[in-house]
Amino acid sequence: MTPDEVRPLLKVEGLSKSYGGRVGCAAVSFDLYPGEVMGIVGESGSGKSTLLNCLAGHLPPDAGAVMFDTRADGMRDTVTMSEPERRMLGRTDWAFVHQHARDGLRMNVSAGGNVGERLMAVGARHYGDIRGQAIDWLGRVEIAADRIDDRPHQFSGGMQQRLQIARNLVTGPRLVFMDEPTGGLDVSVQARLLDLMRGLVREMGLSAVIVTHDLAVVRLLAHRLMVMKDGYVVETGLTDQVLDDPQHAYTQLLVSSVLQV
Ligand code: ADP
Ligand code: MG
Repeated sequence: MTPDEVRPLLKVEGLSKSYGGRVGCAAVSFDLYPGEVMGIVGESGSGKSTLLNCLAGHLPPDAGAVMFDTRADGMRDTVTMSEPERRMLGRTDWAFVHQHARDGLRMNVSAGGNVGERLMAVGARHYGDIRGQAIDWLGRVEIAADRIDDRPHQFSGGMQQRLQIARNLVTGPRLVFMDEPTGGLDVSVQARLLDLMRGLVREMGLSAVIVTHDLAVVRLLAHRLMVMKDGYVVETGLTDQVLDDPQHAYTQLLVSSVLQV
């Protein structure tokens, strides 16, 4: 394969999901390439979480395909693959960072345990190795090693979110889904988390799909953007292009309402 024939890691075609008569997301198609970060923006209720959950296999779509370039068998539609296969992908190649750390962490398990159990889920057995890697990852997300036996509820919101990131990245996934990863945090805490996420994404060459209503988040992290309204993608393009020269009236509104803040 020549470099200009790089295959997409994820190929989404006509993804739709309704709740009764209400549109969740509709006819969403896009490609995501290795190392690329896609931002999904739109106001509350525009379908961002529905789309993300369909992509990550948490929600069965009504129609469409989510093709993922698996290590073993190349492009596979994750919508039609068996539940055990999809679960295995979720443990190995995929990661999901929730908005609320409590949804992505085990709150009654120590920080080290939260990281270590993900390694055990992919077959690690040697206690010393697991603890060593957990300490290494706590360091990478700026949590002091002497907090390893503390439980997440003893941590601040920002620390909990950093721990959730460590738990998700320790197994070396290739694709990370994030739903409002900085939502609900103080602005200064958000900035530090964003910096950290940007560094890790670059270092690890991660592909990511990041949902947010905060345009500053995608400005910093996303190469490309999809703008959603009422379940549909109304505009897509390079992040700077979309934010600096929005074409769709809704995107213009979204961008200007932020500028007025
Ligand atoms: P966002 O993440 O952009 O705020 P959502 O994907 O949560 O948007 O919601 C998209 C639309 O689907 C909204 O109209 C919302 O009310 C509806 N919706 C989301 N989840 C459900 C659900 N479990 N049952 C019924 N309607 C839902
Ligand atoms: Mg949402």
